[in-house]
Amino acid sequence: MRILLTNDDGINAPGLEVLEAIAAELSDEVWVCAPAEENSGAGHSLTLHMPVRLRQHGERRFSVTGTPTDAVNLGMKKLFPDRPPDLVISGVNNGENLADDVTYSGTVSAAMEAALAGIPAVAMSQALRDAGHGFAAARAWAARVLAPLLDVRMPKRTVINVNFPALPADQVKGIRVVRQGFHDYARGSVIEAVDPRGRPYFWFGLDDIEHTLDHGTDLEAVGEGYISVTPLQLDLTHHASIGALAERYSG
Ligand code: MN
Repeated sequence: MRILLTNDDGINAPGLEVLEAIAAELSDEVWVCAPAEENSGAGHSLTLHMPVRLRQHGERRFSVTGTPTDAVNLGMKKLFPDRPPDLVISGVNNGENLADDVTYSGTVSAAMEAALAGIPAVAMSQALRDAGHGFAAARAWAARVLAPLLDVRMPKRTVINVNFPALPADQVKGIRVVRQGFHDYARGSVIEAVDPRGRPYFWFGLDDIEHTLDHGTDLEAVGEGYISVTPLQLDLTHHASIGALAERYSG
């Protein structure tokens, strides 16, 4: 099995080292192609306004001077001329990617880029709210999470979004397959200050995000100490609205 690893925290991120250890247990052909720098919050952005460079760090270790999407896209085009990877895993992200945050997430978007190319893809994120446990839950539980996914033929244009709770590995309660939750919109704080030239600037914070803990969601599962496994689809169409909206335009 040929596995490609990527992330949005950059080639030097501790979570990527954790993911490399996880992947080494699955295969002896593990490749890394990750952004050169941290790209958290980059979403599914593709660099179009400047060139990107592919740098080699080891036999199967590369970085791209761009976004997570750039890294997956360029990696697949340049590193695998013979055959594409069998699996792409993105992460392990430094922090959770739950609910509406999946569209901001470079971690999830890197997996989506692989899914667009028809490759099974998994995004993995580790909640770190209570600092001190680090990536222990992800490291200990990833193999159990991944094993069933390797046997299942994932539908095209879907990705699996996995989040590990901020707990010591032995306190994780189990694995739940759940739907994507949602945040109440009060999207974090904004810090306002003045730069050295006297001009105001703003900086988005991540605190004060309200959670709606609906039953059966990723937010609820991780909040209750479970690992959330959520299948996501790239088709964002709200199918239930098609008929009613089409009627508005007919006649
Ligand atoms: Mn990140």
